[in-house]
Amino acid sequence: MCLVDLEGNLIEVNDKMSEIFGFGKAELETMAVNDLALDEDTMLSPQFIRHAVHGDADRAMFEKRYRHNDGHIVFGIVSSTLIHDQQGNPQFFVSHVQDITASKKVESELRVSEQRYRLLIENASDVIWTLKPDGSFGHFGHPVMETLGYSVVEASHMRFDQFLEPESIVVANDYLTRMRQDIENGRVPPNFRGELLQRRKDGSCLWIEVLAYPITDTHGHLVEVVGVTRNIDERKRHDLELTHARGEAQTAKAALEVANSELEAVNAELIRLASTDPLTHAENRRQFENTMSNHIALAKRRDEPMCLVMFDIDHFKRVNDGYGHLVGDKVLIELSGIALSTLRASDTFSCWGGEEFLILLPDCSMDNARNIADKLRQRFEQHVFAEVGHVTASFGVAQWHLEESVTNWIQRVDKAMYAAKDAGRNTVCVG
Ligand code: GH3
Ligand code: MG
Ligand code: MG
Repeated sequence: MCLVDLEGNLIEVNDKMSEIFGFGKAELETMAVNDLALDEDTMLSPQFIRHAVHGDADRAMFEKRYRHNDGHIVFGIVSSTLIHDQQGNPQFFVSHVQDITASKKVESELRVSEQRYRLLIENASDVIWTLKPDGSFGHFGHPVMETLGYSVVEASHMRFDQFLEPESIVVANDYLTRMRQDIENGRVPPNFRGELLQRRKDGSCLWIEVLAYPITDTHGHLVEVVGVTRNIDERKRHDLELTHARGEAQTAKAALEVANSELEAVNAELIRLASTDPLTHAENRRQFENTMSNHIALAKRRDEPMCLVMFDIDHFKRVNDGYGHLVGDKVLIELSGIALSTLRASDTFSCWGGEEFLILLPDCSMDNARNIADKLRQRFEQHVFAEVGHVTASFGVAQWHLEESVTNWIQRVDKAMYAAKDAGRNTVCVG
């Protein structure tokens, strides 16, 4: 409260006034009302004073902005009354200033928030809508309707399910039924979150993600459903394409795996064919040379004795000449079978050429090798070959000398074998 003279000077102020403006009472009483007013509002009080003194109005109420002693703006509602003396001469004004700064602040914040909200609704790619309990739309963003191909008038007469594909109508109706049941039973209805297929007026479809929140009044009755719709069409179609592509890639991968394992089997067979003798399935010469080199490296490291046995069938030409080449072949197969069944798994049996065979005996002394050779010799000798009857072979044995080359070693075993031939065949000679 304050008293103001006809020139607009503050004559007397109360404590509250001093509190509102942040000046001491004494200081205020030396000031004019316009010393406190914001520049933009300095015409308000003089205007009223002028009118009042001229007798146009005794009282007025107006909003006015002031500057607090610390600089901040004080919003006030002024109600001022002109007091006359008994002769009717204007004396002074009794003014009442109500500080409305706090409510002004809330009001302006509210306005900002409302503007922000409006901006959000109008510009967001997410569309906000409300659905009435009868299934019609309370509010629906206009641009969305246009995107869907409907005029706002058309859309305002349509129910939500007219914008959806059949399978999505089932999903939406399921939710609405559950929601209504919950409301009827006094339960808090759940929100909805799901992907639905929307239908445009032209019949084309659009994937959307929908979030919906049922709003109930204080009695628990459904007021409306507030929802947010987001266009996820591009993402969804991309996802579907990706899933499809992934499926195709998986099928292709599976086919490739089958092809690969087939190829591996064929490769293994090719390797076997390339490294074995087609008739006896013993290692061929090329493969055997590899095997020997590998075993030489091992034997060097382990310092183990290692022997080679060579045998050549005696008078095989006679077999061929007497029974034919095919029968000769059968003898070779049968004889290889005997050799393989006599040897250890770690021994290597090789068809060195025609009816000449080499056996690598790793980790085997000269004595053992000679015994093995003799055992083979006896088995061949004792065996009765189909059609041909008895067949013998001559054997050479040679132990590997340290640092000796493969060629040299073979030459020595070859020599020993020829020594056995010279010695009358069907015998074992050591080289
Ligand atoms: P020797 O006791 O001196 O060894 O007399 P041999 O008749 O066996 O003479 P040699 O070893 O020199 O001759 C081998 C013969 O074996 C010559 C060849 O026709 C025959 N031969 C070589 N490879 C095969 C084959 O794969 N199948 C058949 N059936 N015969 C073969
Ligand atoms: Mg021969
Ligand atoms: Mg021979």
